Amino acid sequence: MIDLKNKVAVVTGSTSGIGLAMAKGLAAQGCNVMLNGFGDEEKIEQIRASMEKDHNVKVSYNSANMAKPEEIRTLIQKTVDTFGGLNILINNAGIQRVHPIEDFPEEDWDDIIAINLSSVFHTMKAAVPHMRKADWGRIINTASVHGLVGSVHKAAYVAAKHGVVGMTKVVALETAQDNITCNAICPGWVHTELIDEQIKIRADKLNVSKDEAEKDILREKQPSMNFVKTEDLANLVLFLCSPAANQMTGAELPVDGGWTAQ
Ligand code: NAD
Repeated sequence: MIDLKNKVAVVTGSTSGIGLAMAKGLAAQGCNVMLNGFGDEEKIEQIRASMEKDHNVKVSYNSANMAKPEEIRTLIQKTVDTFGGLNILINNAGIQRVHPIEDFPEEDWDDIIAINLSSVFHTMKAAVPHMRKADWGRIINTASVHGLVGSVHKAAYVAAKHGVVGMTKVVALETAQDNITCNAICPGWVHTELIDEQIKIRADKLNVSKDEAEKDILREKQPSMNFVKTEDLANLVLFLCSPAANQMTGAELPVDGGWTAQ
């Protein structure tokens, strides 16, 4: 348990998967949360309302498209206007497209770089002054094992995630004396919507069931043979927001069942 009462968090891409688990984890510790991401409006409203009710915190939602810098700036300003400040920024929105380099559509490259990399620049640029004002800030960037190593057919994703890890170090240095930390989380395979397409491609290629394709994907890269749980990543966020992590900054933290130990 850590006390995040009266703290304010923005979690980009928090309408599903990893970001939603992180947002719920923060709310459970008393943090007010600005949700963001795409999806069915009614479903998002249900999530928002139940988080408020379950945890007795304020939860708001903003639909900013992370590909659009103007909307990102509005997201940060709306958060400050709604809650009176901003302390925790989780850059988590992301997409995936896989193609061999020679066939990689330029539009997919542009989308991945905008959403997975440039958005992290725009949110941090807008958020850091508010954290300095509050004299306390935590920035947590959901990178990936692909911020540390490569895999075939992921030119844009690997470039973006390596960029996120690099940018994390720069912002950590620039904020080192301001009671602000900036770290990157590097998950291996996590069972969310983001990897559904890759599981389907593997099942079709091997002509096997979805379960078999999942095992094959794990066998190839993730020695634990288990998917990382979204709750594990939410707990890591809470650790990074706790006093125990006050001196942790600029770190790249693999949570990957041994993927990058090989
Ligand atoms: P997900 O598809 O469940 O969640 C992605 C979130 O980003 C959703 O809320 C979606 O609405 C939002 N989003 C997508 N495009 C957006 C845009 N243009 N503007 C605003 N929001 C947008 O997938 P996930 O696995 O939870 O992915 C979350 C993050 O974790 C991503 O950055 C991803 O790269 C990273 N990651 C995932 C895995 C994995 O195996 N699933 C592994 C390592 C890293």
